[in-house]
Order: sequence, then C-alpha cells, then structure tokens
Amino acid sequence: MDPLGNLLLAASARPEVRTALLRVPVTRRVVQRFVAGDTVADAVRVVARLRDRGLPVSLDHLGEQHTDAESATAAVEATLGSLDALAAAGLSAGSEVSVKLSAIGQAVAGSGSEAVALATRNARRIADAAAAVGALVTLDAEDAGTIDDLLQVHAELRRHHPDVGVVQQAMLRRTESELPGLAASGARIRLVKGAYAEPPEVAHQDRAAVDRAYARCLAVLMAGPAHPMVATHDPRCIVLAGELAGRTGRSAQDWEHQLLYGIRPQEQQRLVDAGRRVRVYVPWGTEWYGYFTRRLAERPANLQFFLRSLVTH
Ligand code: FAD
Repeated sequence: MDPLGNLLLAASARPEVRTALLRVPVTRRVVQRFVAGDTVADAVRVVARLRDRGLPVSLDHLGEQHTDAESATAAVEATLGSLDALAAAGLSAGSEVSVKLSAIGQAVAGSGSEAVALATRNARRIADAAAAVGALVTLDAEDAGTIDDLLQVHAELRRHHPDVGVVQQAMLRRTESELPGLAASGARIRLVKGAYAEPPEVAHQDRAAVDRAYARCLAVLMAGPAHPMVATHDPRCIVLAGELAGRTGRSAQDWEHQLLYGIRPQEQQRLVDAGRRVRVYVPWGTEWYGYFTRRLAERPANLQFFLRSLVTH
C-alpha cells in the first residue's frame, strides 16, 4: 500500500477522524458507490440486478471488531437473514456470503480461545444455513494478527462443509509458505493482495513486491486441486489468471474472478461476456466505515475524488 494509504488507514482508526467523516453528508454519497445499501432489501435488489447480467455475488453484511457477544449475535442474525431473503427471492442457489470472524465472535473481549470457539460456533450456524439454501460461505481475512484463528476456524468448518472458502492475502510473507498446503487440500481459496496496513516483518511493503507475490501465489493455486477465486481488479493479474488457467487446462467452471461492487463494473461485464465466471462482492449494512476507508486507502484517486467532493459540496 502507498504511504498515503497507510497514513489514511492509521488516521481513520482515530475516533475524532471517524466522527468527523461520519458527520459529513457527502461521505454518504461517495459510500453509495461501494455499498449496496443499509437494508437487506437493498442488498437483494442489487443481487437481482447483477444476476440478471450473469454476475453471481458474495454478500457481505458489513461490520467488524464486535467486542461484545450481543453485537456478534446480531451480526450472525443479519447474515442468516440475508440467506433467508436470498432464498425467498429465488436467488440463494449459487450465491455466497462472506463472513468476517471479528464480526461474529473472534473479537469478543475475554479469553482468546473462548472468542475463537464462539466465532467457530457462529460460523458453523452460517455454513449450515447456507448449505440448506444452496449457498456458499467464504471467510474473509483481516489483519495479520488474526490469520492463525482464521485458518483454525476454516479447517474446523471444512470437516462438515468442505466447500467453505477462505481468503489468502498475497502481501503477507507467511502466505507463500502456507498456500501450497491449503491448495493441496482442494479448498476454495480467494486470493487477494491484502487491504490492511501491516509492518515490514510480516508483509511486503511496496506495490511491485506485492504484485510479484500475487503472481507467484496465483501460479500455485492454478496448478493444484484448489478452486481459485481470483479476487483482484488489477488488469495484469486478470490477464495472468486467464493465461495460467489455459496453461493448466482449467475449464471456466473450475475457477472464478471476484471483484468488488462498484469497482471496474465494465470489466466485470466484459469478463462475463468473454465466458468467464465472475462473482461480485456486495457489501450491505450500516457499518460501512472500515470497509469504506480501506477502499479510499488502496487507491489515491478515490481519496482525491472524496476530498474534492468535500470541497465542491
Ligand atoms: P490494485 O493494484 O490495488 O489495483 C489495481 C487496479 O484496480 C487499480 O489500478 C484500479 O484500476 C482498480 N482498483 C483497485 N482498488 C480500487 C478501488 N478501491 N477503487 C477503484 N478502483 C480500484 N482484502 C483483505 O485483506 N481481506 C479480504 O478478505 C478481502 N476480500 C476481498 C474480496 C474481493 C472479492 C476483492 C476483489 C478484494 C478483497 N480484498 C480483501 C481487497 C484486496 O486485498 C485489495 O485491497 C483490493 O482488491 C485492491 O487490490 P487489487 O488487487 O484490485 O489491485
């Protein structure tokens, strides 16, 4: 991530910056570009529109770092409600929900192992409900300090639901040594560059090094029995994924692209029209602050656009 992006992520964690940003009415308008809406009905409307264009989704109920059990339970209920709403609209089969463990128990204050156990139980409820309506689940990756918990919960869930997916962040140095084992197990793996500010001991710092790590990880994924979910908007990585899939003899059904709602929508459509499988990650809900600031931080042009709208408003 650029130094400016790191600075923004650090600043956005400060309560006074958060309060100021949430107060500015224009923030809300810029957020709408990246978030389907506050309610599950908003989310289902967007899912229906995307499905009409050949784009299945991964629905993400926004929220993270819930430190009390009640908020964690509310987050689980919201995700379960989204699965019900998708099923009622005839849209659940082939859809996915994305889940952040820190939203559903892993960040609850107290003993670490109890929190992980709570997150595991909650994730299991979601995976059971998803399976019942023909939907999939993928566990998002958060900051580097949570990856051990993530891999542990993922392995546990796969005992009952082998198709539960997990995110791997190419920017983390550990990913390249752990990915081959995970890929060999045939897991669904969503490969991303990584959206969190991390220190040099654990993560590549400059963009070129992250891009090279992404390409190496992609080659490992495409060569093995995993189901690769190529989650990037980077044109070079998208081309490379297509080349590697061709070279390793993968059919279009054996892997997929994933892109975020509101980012490069024409490219999403172009890929579908070219016969690729493409899934759009659609966030919804009122807790959009963390997600939104990560989207600003990863692209200086977004930040400039946002700052310009503040001035011209
Ligand atoms: P970049 O090199 O950052 O961008 C390449 C090009 O894509 C840019 O030049 C621009 O044209 C376009 N682009 C990228 N970002 C933006 C943006 N915000 N606004 C407008 N255009 C943009 N990260 C995690 O750490 N954990 C997760 O669980 C996780 N899940 C994800 C799920 C999906 C489906 C996707 C697509 C991303 C996810 N990410 C996650 C975010 C990811 O780590 C990156 O931060 C993000 O995708 C930007 O990196 P990039 O690969 O698109 O490449």
